[in-house]
Amino acid sequence: MVNDSLKRPLNSDPPPNTNCISLSWSDDDGAQVEQVVSTTIHDLPCPYCGGKRRPNGRRIVRYRDVPIDGVPHLVDWHRQHYRCTQCGRSSNEENPTFEKERFITKRFAEWIMQEARRSNLASIAKQAGMNQVFLRRLFHFLTATNSATPVRLPRSLGVAMVKVAGGNRPALADVDTCVLVDVFDSMDELKQFLVDKETPSSTDVTCVVRDIELEAAEFFGPGQLRDLFPNVTLSVISSRSLARSAVASMVALCEPWIEATASAECRSPISVRKLFVRRNQDLKRSASGRIRKWQHMSEAASLFRAYWLKERFLEIWLDDANLTRWQDWIDEANRLPEQRFQEVITLVESRWNEVTPCFKDLSIFRYERWLEDVQKYEIRGTHSFAAARLALLAKFEKPSEAPLAPPSSLSEEEERAIANISYLGSNDGSG
Ligand SMILES: [Zn+2]
Repeated sequence: MVNDSLKRPLNSDPPPNTNCISLSWSDDDGAQVEQVVSTTIHDLPCPYCGGKRRPNGRRIVRYRDVPIDGVPHLVDWHRQHYRCTQCGRSSNEENPTFEKERFITKRFAEWIMQEARRSNLASIAKQAGMNQVFLRRLFHFLTATNSATPVRLPRSLGVAMVKVAGGNRPALADVDTCVLVDVFDSMDELKQFLVDKETPSSTDVTCVVRDIELEAAEFFGPGQLRDLFPNVTLSVISSRSLARSAVASMVALCEPWIEATASAECRSPISVRKLFVRRNQDLKRSASGRIRKWQHMSEAASLFRAYWLKERFLEIWLDDANLTRWQDWIDEANRLPEQRFQEVITLVESRWNEVTPCFKDLSIFRYERWLEDVQKYEIRGTHSFAAARLALLAKFEKPSEAPLAPPSSLSEEEERAIANISYLGSNDGSG
């Protein structure tokens, strides 16, 4: 059914290089259907023999185009056919506005990429009047060709794990400008990217700030860093990742006390574990009261002391950047039964040169605050990794405008402690 009296909405033009013949509504799905012909008919010779071609009727091929005001839009291209006057073979008119293999217009492909940065595939499919499965397939085709763009690495490179599309994925960032460079599907993909000869800027990198968890992948230890980035002079472990990792290790070390406390409280060990990892400042009164009770229970007294050690650890390494309290912390941790936190002390002390620069360098401090925003950023909807990556890049690939607070001023003693830090380049990164 064709209704030629339809008016064209103001915000739409026919696809480039085409003229509209008529507009109608599709009876099946309410989509707007536009009949078009190419603007310029090229009088091209026969592609087979170079002879002269004669028009031989038109055939209609349907393409999907950008929806107009939420209404799906289809374009029927009345494609000119020819027959050669010399060799007799038939050929077709060409028009760069159509993606002939995929039955979409070029601008529809661009529109999908743009929408995927702020919306999920289900809602894009709905707007375009398209089957979700087809859109997903199309999207993967489009992003596969797009991700081949080479990226230049910044001088100060941040490497961090970020939760994207239901999994922890490695991300690269510029520490100085707080800008996301890219996010990778997996560690393997990141490795591939970094060792790729097409990425020649790894010699530019002089500073790497990384999550300590990444070392588990045996790719970002101090030794490997220098293979990857030959000019690195400063290697830093992010203090937030240090805190995460230390808390995880404290939980594991406290496991016998957690079990004992759970049975004394008649609760599950999971509930005690959950309470143990939470910051005291975030606790409700009742939860906070529950921890206070631990100190009077013989089964829970050690866990109580461990809890407050954990809290002070986070204060030192996250809140105050207060290194003068570190020695006090060690002394108290060593008074725990069986010196249970020795492992945590060893972790920090053995990596001292890499965990303390966070307090010295304002840009690293700003980067860590910013990274927390990236890690907390929630992408709504059911995204595939490719779509979630685009959404995350759209949000964080430009410098953040929000002013960031500087770290609290350092005491003289802290200044001295920091002045004694020697960096990776000068002492071989050990000790
Ligand atoms: Zn011919």
